[in-house]
Amino acid sequence: MSDPFLVVGGGPAGLSAAHALAASGNKVVLVEKTDILGGAPIHSGYAKLVPSGEWAKDAIGSMIDRVTGNPDIEVITGEVVQSFEGAPGNFTATLKGGRTIKTPSAILCTGFTHFDSVNKPEWGFGRFPDVVTTSQVEQMISSGAGIKRPSNGEQPKRVAILLCVGSRDRQIGREWCSKICCTVSAKMAMEIREEIPDCHVYIYYMDIRTFGLYEEIYWNSQEQQKVKYIKARIAEVTSDGDKVIVKGEDTLVKRPITIPFDMVVHAIGMDPNVDNMTISSVFGVDLHHWGYVKRENTYGVMGATSREGVFVAGAAIGPETIDDSVAQGAGAAMSALGMLRALTPA
Ligand SMILES: Cc1cc2nc3c(=O)[nH]c(=O)nc-3n(C[C@H](O)[C@H](O)[C@H](O)COP(=O)(O)OP(=O)(O)OC[C@H]3O[C@@H](n4cnc5c(N)ncnc54)[C@H](O)[C@@H]3O)c2cc1C
Ligand code: SF4
Repeated sequence: MSDPFLVVGGGPAGLSAAHALAASGNKVVLVEKTDILGGAPIHSGYAKLVPSGEWAKDAIGSMIDRVTGNPDIEVITGEVVQSFEGAPGNFTATLKGGRTIKTPSAILCTGFTHFDSVNKPEWGFGRFPDVVTTSQVEQMISSGAGIKRPSNGEQPKRVAILLCVGSRDRQIGREWCSKICCTVSAKMAMEIREEIPDCHVYIYYMDIRTFGLYEEIYWNSQEQQKVKYIKARIAEVTSDGDKVIVKGEDTLVKRPITIPFDMVVHAIGMDPNVDNMTISSVFGVDLHHWGYVKRENTYGVMGATSREGVFVAGAAIGPETIDDSVAQGAGAAMSALGMLRALTPA
């Protein structure tokens, strides 16, 4: 048996890559920088996932169990790779703690960083307690605490969800669509209505991008839960000391709007991982000009990077869903196996 494959990052993509490699008879070392596996859905306490409706802790939890219960996978948490030298089939990774790992290949599954809403100050996050993010509402639901206004602990009766916070916004250097936040917001609006049936929920959007089959969640949110969608340009979020006030323009009727809410939710986007400059220099891989890890070959070799023998999968490449991250993790595993086989004498 050859040296273990190296998987970096223990989110959905990394868990999938590690499982695929071990399931095809290989040893794996998975290095995760935090103390727990699961990536964003576990670290950020997501509630029910789209599109499956499964609780994140169950869906991702079973992926974690499959990896931690596999004797062919060694999981190292609280560690990062500090250097990565050598050639395809024969690399040496050195961890920050000093341990070295000989490996034929590495798969980078290092994911993304949630957009920090303080970088959009005119929309009130960090200034008004009742302006929160989708991540925070996910945590309110998954923790069982329930959806409450942070200012007074009461259930909100009017909620606005603002889309594209930290995405599709050239002014703050984030041109990309984060792909999943329209669907997550439609799902969240339904969850709010289910928990608080007399709460009015409005979604303020530029465009709705509930792509593919996710369009069903958009229609269900309107037809089953009476969520209201307003096409608007939001200028600012202020407060009168109690309510948070959304100001902007309704772009369908071309009229200014000033509307009070009990709670405003930022549908935050997916930034490149803040570690990407370091990851790029340690692994010798190029970054896309927006800061994600650059794919070298879209169709021929799944997950190829600019360095032969180093592959990438999931939200490290750009905003991605969980199911696509899982598929890319398995795909990159196949690419790594194919590369090693091509290097091995018959
Ligand atoms: C609010 C919100 C809700 C969402 N809800 C859904 C949903 O319902 N359904 C859905 O399909 N998608 C959802 N997504 C998207 C989902 O979070 C991503 O698709 C998914 O997390 C990508 O998995 P990943 O493994 O590629 O990356 P991540 O989940 O980001 O995992 C990356 C892992 O790598 C680790 N890591 C990072 N840097 C290093 C390093 N240098 N060394 C070692 N380890 C490192 C991280 O700690 C992390 O554990 C949501 C996104 C947001 C923002
Ligand atoms: S998925 Fe929707 S909310 Fe997210 S960036 Fe794209 S258009 Fe905006």
